[in-house]
Amino acid sequence: MSLFEHPAFDNHEHIAFRFDEKTGLKAIIAVHNTNLGPTLGGCRMWPYASSAEALNDVLRLSRGMTYKSALANLPQGGGKSVIIGDPRTDITPALMHAMGDFVQSLGGKYVTAEDSGISPQSLKLMAQRCDYVAGTQAKYSYHGGEADGNPSPATAYGTFVGIQASVKQRLGRSVDGLTVAIQGLGHVGYRLAELLHAAGANLIVTDIFPDNLEKAEKLLGATLVKPEAIYAVKADVFAPCAFGAVINDDTIEQFNFSVIAGAANNQLAHESHGEILRQRDILYAPDYVINAGGVIDIYHQNIDSSNAALRTHIEQIGETLTEIFMRSQQQGDATNIVANLMAEERFSAK
Ligand code: NAD
Repeated sequence: MSLFEHPAFDNHEHIAFRFDEKTGLKAIIAVHNTNLGPTLGGCRMWPYASSAEALNDVLRLSRGMTYKSALANLPQGGGKSVIIGDPRTDITPALMHAMGDFVQSLGGKYVTAEDSGISPQSLKLMAQRCDYVAGTQAKYSYHGGEADGNPSPATAYGTFVGIQASVKQRLGRSVDGLTVAIQGLGHVGYRLAELLHAAGANLIVTDIFPDNLEKAEKLLGATLVKPEAIYAVKADVFAPCAFGAVINDDTIEQFNFSVIAGAANNQLAHESHGEILRQRDILYAPDYVINAGGVIDIYHQNIDSSNAALRTHIEQIGETLTEIFMRSQQQGDATNIVANLMAEERFSAK
């Protein structure tokens, strides 16, 4: 297995491997870039088929966090950790303590948080052995109500703000009276649907499970469509909020949208699809910029902040997107390419 020559290595500053004989912990921490500050990124537990697969995942994810944090105006870099194992059967307090010791051993260069397979309880176990665990104590919420430590509402609000900025840029108006198609009514998608409905948008929604669909039809007046039909509906905005790679060779032909702006990670199957969208005059809000509300939320829970400061910070997503759109127009480059360059300018500058 190559390391410095690895295709996803991308100048990582520090990669640490830990095997703990007593607990069987096998974990990797990747610290991509600390130029803007210590790194923050979730800990993922997954039954990877090989250590090569785990390494590839952690490198890709930590690099992504550097770009996301830089454009979210956060004084932090990108890092991530993975534990090789099945979260349904392999989690024990001793394993989580061993992971806490591992994170602690980096001395604060990497701050961990929740990701797939790692619950708030697991995080709390890590925090018993480690000073660098974010998201175990929620104090602030962007809406001023009770903070429960779930970053999804903040992600939804950031996505809503991002949709407003994108619509203003492309159509020169508000979302009131427009039609928004939402793919996936989960933690983020349903909350986003509520915010859009309150702002006067008409909704077309889909999901593979009926629960939230029925609620959206009844409470938000949404039109329901089958999952495979969402790409071809006629709508002003498409908001992918389910899974990645939904902008690909097959779907792009079907699009009848002016704007694509949603919370899902890695929406473009390939970076070149951003250019195809630009040529078709479909304004694309780069996913890691518009879905940064959650990471902004986690950051504020860890500092001395306030509900208002958190909200204002999330709202900066709109300004950042507007800057990306302007530069894209001036330079004739796709928005995803402009976003990457802007992030690199920020985290390479120091
Ligand atoms: P979630 O699992 O709660 O919701 C995803 C929803 O998509 C589910 O309701 C699921 O049934 C639905 N879905 C799955 N396959 C589908 C299909 N083929 N067609 C239609 N719907 C389908 O996840 P979430 O927390 O709401 O996150 C949604 C997306 O946003 C994910 O891509 C996630 O990585 C990304 N994201 C989430 C956050 C956050 O704070 N939760 C932050 C950044 C990015």
